[in-house]
Amino acid sequence: MSPLEPLIDGHGRPIGDVRVSVTDRCNFRCQYCMPAEGLAWLERPQLLTYEELERLVRLLAAMGVHDVRLTGGEPLVRRELWRLVERLAALEDVHDLSLTTNGYLLAKQVDELVAAGLRRVNVSLDALAPDRFFQLTRRDSLAQVLAGLAAAQRHPELRPIKVNVVALKGFTEPEVVRFAEFARERPFEVRFIEFMPLDADQAWDMDQVLPNDEIRAMIDAVYPLVADDRPAHATATTWRFADGRGRIGFVSPVSVPFCDDCNRIRITADGMLRTCLFSLHETDLRGLMRDGGDDGELEAAIREAVWSKELKHRINDPGFRQPARSMSRIGG
Ligand code: SAM
Ligand code: SF4
Repeated sequence: MSPLEPLIDGHGRPIGDVRVSVTDRCNFRCQYCMPAEGLAWLERPQLLTYEELERLVRLLAAMGVHDVRLTGGEPLVRRELWRLVERLAALEDVHDLSLTTNGYLLAKQVDELVAAGLRRVNVSLDALAPDRFFQLTRRDSLAQVLAGLAAAQRHPELRPIKVNVVALKGFTEPEVVRFAEFARERPFEVRFIEFMPLDADQAWDMDQVLPNDEIRAMIDAVYPLVADDRPAHATATTWRFADGRGRIGFVSPVSVPFCDDCNRIRITADGMLRTCLFSLHETDLRGLMRDGGDDGELEAAIREAVWSKELKHRINDPGFRQPARSMSRIGG
């Protein structure tokens, strides 16, 4: 597809990254994301097909949205995800194709995903002790996730491998240093992520947020850290261990919002364009496609929505309203 004008929001920020949710379903029930009984799942016809997803990604990539991350729900529960990876990896304008997964099905699928063109993976892992892992995810599956990470590690094409840890006050502290050691012993970049008000139970409270500064101080006291420069648009600040063994990252949307140079948009599994995790409105791209809209109409709808992209999230403002969709229904 020939290049189109770059996609720019009304605050002058160029958009370069899209998070594409392929399903709202999940095989885990992380406390900070989903209720124990799960949620009312979308019906299959409500999901964008792989053809529709490829069409949207091709169009976005032609507008300069070169980085594509597949997520969910749990993306690996969508049937034959490798087929979508193969389609997207073949798009010339997609420069970086990655996957965020809870890792449970990764060992089974990693060979076909890499063969299809996947080059980067983030695995969520919030606890290193089996009982604590169970407490948080409500699944006794730590061994499968570690096996998934090990299987990913066996593919040198798949780098970097990042491990995402959502930090919760009163829960994560005992394992902070253990996670630092995990990052030092293995070729994984461990990144601590602050808990955001996107839980389905709507029980988020500032008191449950463990600020990343506190985590960094806990690690630095045992294994001194040296700051890296922060690349533009990066969600994480990264730090190297002073002795040169490994690196650790911090994603701090609550304590240090990074909205100023946000370059991201999201597409939900049912084809809604969201311009912010905390958007209170969305644009129905699925309806437009299924009503026979051509690429010109789709492009116009995307540009119009992106023009109104939120300047910043308002988590820390009085009167903040949590969006109706929780994280697994948005695509984190
Ligand atoms: N199921 C996959 C996984 O867990 O990696 C992909 C989807 S999940 C919604 C994407 C990321 O969002 C995960 O790293 C997860 O830990 C994170 N997440 C979910 N709810 C969150 C919340 N309320 N605050 C911060 N991060 C959250
Ligand atoms: Fe599932 Fe990921 Fe949400 Fe955990 S964070 S419940 S793995 S979607």
